[in-house]
This record gives sequence, C-alpha cells and structure tokens, in this order.
Amino acid sequence: MSRIGFIGLGNMGLPMAQNLLKAGHQVEGVDINPDAVAKLKAAGGTTIDMAGVAAARADVVITMLPAGSHVRDVYLSPGGIVESANPGTLLIDCSTIDVTSAREVAKAAEARGLMMLDAPVSGGVGGATAGTLTFMVGGPAQAFARAEHILQQMGKTIVHAGGAGNGQAAKICNNMILGISMIAVSEAFVLAEQLGLEHQKLFDIASKSSGQCWAMTSYCPVPGPVPTSPANRDYAAGFTAAMMLKDLKLSQDAAKAAGAVTEMGANAANIYSRYVDSGEGSRDFSGIIRFVRG
Ligand code: NAD
Repeated sequence: MSRIGFIGLGNMGLPMAQNLLKAGHQVEGVDINPDAVAKLKAAGGTTIDMAGVAAARADVVITMLPAGSHVRDVYLSPGGIVESANPGTLLIDCSTIDVTSAREVAKAAEARGLMMLDAPVSGGVGGATAGTLTFMVGGPAQAFARAEHILQQMGKTIVHAGGAGNGQAAKICNNMILGISMIAVSEAFVLAEQLGLEHQKLFDIASKSSGQCWAMTSYCPVPGPVPTSPANRDYAAGFTAAMMLKDLKLSQDAAKAAGAVTEMGANAANIYSRYVDSGEGSRDFSGIIRFVRG
C-alpha cells in the first residue's frame, strides 16, 4: 500500500481519493476549498495545507485540478511538487489540460529524477464514484508499469497512449469527436421534428444504421429513447457545456500548434461558445439541442 498525496478534491478528485482509501492506501489530501478537505477527512483520509508538503511525504502524488494554469502552479512554483518530492516519487496528473503544459511539467519532473504521467480520464463523476473511469496515459513505460495497479483501483480501462502529453492528446481528440457528434445528432433530431418524424422512430432506425454513435445511443439529446440520458432530467449535468467548451478549445489550440486542419472541431467550439455565452454553461452539454433548435 502506498502513501498517496492527492491534490484537488473536487467533483472528480474526491470520489477518486475515496476509492484509493477503500483500496487500503493512506491518502493525504490537499485542496484550497475547506469543504473539500472536510469531506476527505469524513471519508477517513488525512489532510495537509500545502501540495509541496504532501509531495515530500508521499510515494505517489495524484493531481486532479481544473486547468493547465493550476497544474503548472502546483507542480512548478517554488516549494511546489517538483521541487519538494523525493527522487523516485511517482507523479500522476489526471486533470484535463493542454498538451504543452503537460509536456513542460513532465520535463521538469524528469530533470529532478521524478517519474511523471499525464493520465486524464473519461467517465465523469459517475465513473469516478463507481471506480470505472477510463485513463488515457502518457509518459515513460516504467512509470506506467508502476502506476497501473493504482489507476485500476479508480478505473476500469487503462490505456498507455505513448510518451509525455499523449494522454492529453487522446483526451482532447476523443472529446472533439464527442462535441462534433453531439451537435450532429442534435441537428438530425431537430430536422426530424420539422419533417414530422417522431424522435423514437428516428432513434429506432438511426441507432441501428450508419448514423449510430455514442452521442445517440448512450446520451441521446431528446427525452425518451435513452432513459438515463440528461435530456430526461432537463439537461442537469452530467458533463457541463462549459467543460465541453474547455476541451474543444484545448483541441483547437493543439490543432493550431500542430498545423492540423480541424474545421468541424472549430465549428463545434464556436457553437458551444455561443451556447455557454447564452448562460447555459452549467447545463449538460447535450442541452446543445435546445440551442440548435433556436
Ligand atoms: P472541480 O472544480 O470540481 O475540482 C477541482 C478542485 O481543485 C477544486 O476542489 C479546487 O478547490 C481545487 N483546486 C484548485 N486549485 C488548487 C490548488 N492550487 N491547490 C489545491 N487544490 C486546488 O473540477 P472537477 O470536475 O473535479 O474536474 C477536475 C478535472 O477533471 C478538470 O481538469 C476537468 O476538465 C477534468 N474532468 C472532469 C470531468 C467531470 O465530469 N467533472 C470529467 C472528465 C474530466
């Protein structure tokens, strides 16, 4: 069992840390939000004020933070994780951040003899709670081999995607597909409405035809065909439109930096940006159908 410093105990980090506690690890949590640390304490964890102090005591450090700026700050600032961790400590960043920041932090960690992985997740709060997340992991094979059993205690599917930053690359490519396909499915259902075709009939046909995709069959944006989809609960999130926009922007930044042409991704980012600006950022991202409808 390991002593794990867990930094960022929000919607995702807290249930992930709780699963590590259940697996028998000693978890020392850090968060700037006192409510978040209180919840970890209530679940049997201990808490520490500073990420650097937790890192100096840990065999493994896991971070689950909002964005690249938070990750750079917590790892690279004086007294932060990279400066404070003992050589050989395994560092795993599970946040969704830009590829450039992920590679920069990994390089700084490696220079100090630390093993670093980027390991963003798919599966949302439900997957974090159930311990069924998918982890997309970038970094050295040796670090992956050491991390795999710990990731298995928080997830079901663990894939090594290659070198540093490749976990983030996989995550933003996946979510670009998801953002585009949710808009495509929404446009199809809105067109069907206008053509007098019932939602359920379109679903019964397209879900068994070449239009089939996850956005339709697992997360259908109209109420009815998939009882568990957020459309059946007035688009309560789930995965918020603001988070989808964050990931679409990350994919656009990466595409620009790499010189890749992603016109559909750019259109999806634009449509989600206008949806979020209309005040719907905290709604589930499948609520985009209401924006498509006008
Ligand atoms: P969240 O805002 O609920 O949690 C982030 C936590 O980090 C907060 O508790 C915040 O107080 C803490 N924090 C911020 N700065 C800190 C610092 N300097 N030191 C210590 N703690 C700090 O966000 P979340 O929903 O848990 O998402 C975390 C990451 O996971 C994001 O990168 C997000 O894109 C990604 N993600 C989220 C979901 C989802 O469904 N929520 C799904 C997949 C991936």
